[in-house]
Amino acid sequence: MDDIASDERFPARHWHGLADGRIQCDVCPRYCKLHDGQRGLCFVRARAGDRMVLTTYGRSSGFCVDPIEKKPLNHFLPGSAVFSFGTAGCNLTCKFCQNWDISKARAADRLNSPATPELIAAAARQLGCRSVAFTYNDPVIFLEYAIDVAKACRAVGIKTVAVTAGYVAPEARAEFFAHMDAANVDLKGFTERFYRDLCSGKLDAVLDTLVYLKRETSVWFEITTLLIPGENDSDDELDALSRWVAAELGRDVPLHFTAFHPDWKMRDTPQTPAATLARARAIARRHGLRYVYVGNVRDRDGASTWCCGCGALLIGRDQYALFAWGLDESGRCCNCGTALPGVVEASPGAWGNRRQPVVFRAAAAVPSGAGCA
Ligand code: SF4
Repeated sequence: MDDIASDERFPARHWHGLADGRIQCDVCPRYCKLHDGQRGLCFVRARAGDRMVLTTYGRSSGFCVDPIEKKPLNHFLPGSAVFSFGTAGCNLTCKFCQNWDISKARAADRLNSPATPELIAAAARQLGCRSVAFTYNDPVIFLEYAIDVAKACRAVGIKTVAVTAGYVAPEARAEFFAHMDAANVDLKGFTERFYRDLCSGKLDAVLDTLVYLKRETSVWFEITTLLIPGENDSDDELDALSRWVAAELGRDVPLHFTAFHPDWKMRDTPQTPAATLARARAIARRHGLRYVYVGNVRDRDGASTWCCGCGALLIGRDQYALFAWGLDESGRCCNCGTALPGVVEASPGAWGNRRQPVVFRAAAAVPSGAGCA
């Protein structure tokens, strides 16, 4: 039955008709095949008549100004503020989802904040943000909206950040990342079993995206792996993951190991011990990875950036706030001159740990006391 409202029919790209009359969405490796009125697994892309539509264009689940380190990105405009928003839905079904209220939401439940691309770009600039992040849910499923926002941002000098699981098909991937300046890609585990049983996805597709980013684009990207006790935290799996990253992506790609908190359908799984994060970090460093971080816990050593040339402290972090800066104006270590890979400016931002919700009133963005997604 067709329950797609008239204002939910933004023309979608990346689809084709099949001989049996269905339409196939080509945005992600699920390749949903739809009859009229059906929605894909992500819920937000749907078939309306003889075409595909995006049902969430121009509407968000909320806006916040965050530290860029929260995405997490530690080598992209450190210390700066990022204007963050998401929509609804997701194309993976992770049982451990830490944002399930958004990713599992039906659009009408959550999308209470309409905003045009131009309004978002102007708001980011007005609020002193250096970038806009598509986050909270995966932007590949609202690709048309994200790209229009990215174009509006670039027109006013604002950079763009994708926080994504990298579960995207090749043609859509090329279009999407052509408009991004930076990305954090979730590498959720390193076995097909993990992706199949916990996410109903495929590891290979995500590895393809990471290799694509490295070889075919200039997008600055970092990787996050949420460590879940008993699921993806064995020495063997961390060893294989680290070896692959070093060999295929290089030793300079930052890797973040973050702590799981019981949530969604895995509320009986314990949270990740700090010792597990430390063990993962040690394994990755043994494989030669130069920038390995821990997150979702308070660990100044594991959150900070250290020079790979001389071991000096380059960027000291306490949670998301910077407390030390050991780089010169060209982004090199003040002690030994080794360059820090990434997008680093002459001086750090000063946004700190704050998280500022934002609402739009009369086409202007204003800080809000209310919580947002
Ligand atoms: S983006 Fe959505 S509709 Fe398209 S293939 Fe993926 S899950 Fe299916």
